[in-house]
Amino acid sequence: MKVAGERFTVVGAGRSGVAASNALAKRGGDVLLVEANAEAARPAGLDERVAYQAGTNDVREGDVAVLSPGVPEVSPVRGQIAARAGEVIGEVELFYRLAPCPTLAITGTDGKSTTTTMLGDIARVVNPGTFVGGNLGNPLCEGLDELTADSLVVAEISCFQLTTCSTFRPRVAIVTNIAEDHLNYHGSFEAYQAAKRRIWAAMEAEDTVILNADDGFIAAWERPAVPQVKTFSLVDTDADAFFADRTLWLRGPDGVASPLMTRDELPLLGGHNVANALAAGLAAATWGIPAAAIREALMAYAPLPHRLATVRTREGVRWVNDSKATNPNAASAGLRAIEGPVILLAGGSAKDADFTAFAALVRERARAVILFGATRDALAAAIGLGGPAVTVVETMAEALEVAQGLAVSGDTVLLSPACASFDQFKSYGHRGDTFTEMVNALP
Ligand code: ADP
Repeated sequence: MKVAGERFTVVGAGRSGVAASNALAKRGGDVLLVEANAEAARPAGLDERVAYQAGTNDVREGDVAVLSPGVPEVSPVRGQIAARAGEVIGEVELFYRLAPCPTLAITGTDGKSTTTTMLGDIARVVNPGTFVGGNLGNPLCEGLDELTADSLVVAEISCFQLTTCSTFRPRVAIVTNIAEDHLNYHGSFEAYQAAKRRIWAAMEAEDTVILNADDGFIAAWERPAVPQVKTFSLVDTDADAFFADRTLWLRGPDGVASPLMTRDELPLLGGHNVANALAAGLAAATWGIPAAAIREALMAYAPLPHRLATVRTREGVRWVNDSKATNPNAASAGLRAIEGPVILLAGGSAKDADFTAFAALVRERARAVILFGATRDALAAAIGLGGPAVTVVETMAEALEVAQGLAVSGDTVLLSPACASFDQFKSYGHRGDTFTEMVNALP
């Protein structure tokens, strides 16, 4: 991609917008960064060659626009930008056009970050020059300067980012699973699924997309003729990676399945994490990484914060932070992963999610439920009467107080909110940290 002397307007001064701006300025582009929030000061760390304007979304006529993933697919701003720009891309697409090395990519509703960091850890065993990033938190463009032709990139890609990809070609891609999420961003569940399928739009015949064979929504998708398709499954022993006899299996190029590791060797709670490990292991094997390296990295894998992290066990009660469970599907995985009686803390900001299936699982699994945040009444209505005792409060602090009163030795108090955090917190991380601090402060 020619950057020197070309004009770019980067829309949105979040971390990925700053990273894209800097990458373009460094390569001689004429770059304007615009930010809709009029109060937002020039970001620290922005290359001094980048012009900056707050309080606008306007791109310069004819520029290549690099659009923030924060602008919803349904927003009229997208149309306005497309009408003025020469081309609209996103930070991932920009990265792809500038990167000197191959990329392996992970998308899906849940388990992206876990699967990405698993695959990243595996790749690092054989290639210490592996860069792991993307939707994970560190934008891909931040990694550009450290990449050479021998590097490898393992990228977590959100559906938001996929809406602005056109030539992005991962060599191996994973779709972890699909559940209803982010409907207010895409406009419909179908639009959301279509965004996910864009992961393979530019992949070629020698590339492979890895799909979850257990996922009902993915099963209904038309399989692409190109790229190649492989599958992973917790139940189907015909899949390319599967779980049977408490063992994770990988099928080789000859079609013969070999044991990779036992369930007990994978140091993570929950069947969903077995699925994540199967997907990461299959992607690594497809990329030619030996089974010994896959095994080594998965056995040593340390879970990311705010994903089923035990904060503390106090008087026989285990307190678990699963704040990253920001939709009903993820919270269901959290709930299924806990053995024994559970007191569930849930609620937060709304994403138009359907709570029906989650509520049914809550009725089956939870001993008591404490709901807080903007969705508390909607969740209470979905769970209904006659199931576990439901207490509705306003804040997480009150929820914790109620939980403390209810919990007896042997219980797990699980924060698996099934909702985003923005009603009362800055992010899921802020919510998880607040929970952790409060739990640690219990006498
Ligand atoms: P993402 O990056 O897609 O949000 P994470 O790996 O950060 O995924 O996990 C987010 C939440 O989703 C966690 O709280 C976890 O309990 C749940 N989760 C992780 N993997 C899966 C999976 N394969 N299926 C369903 N839920 C999952």
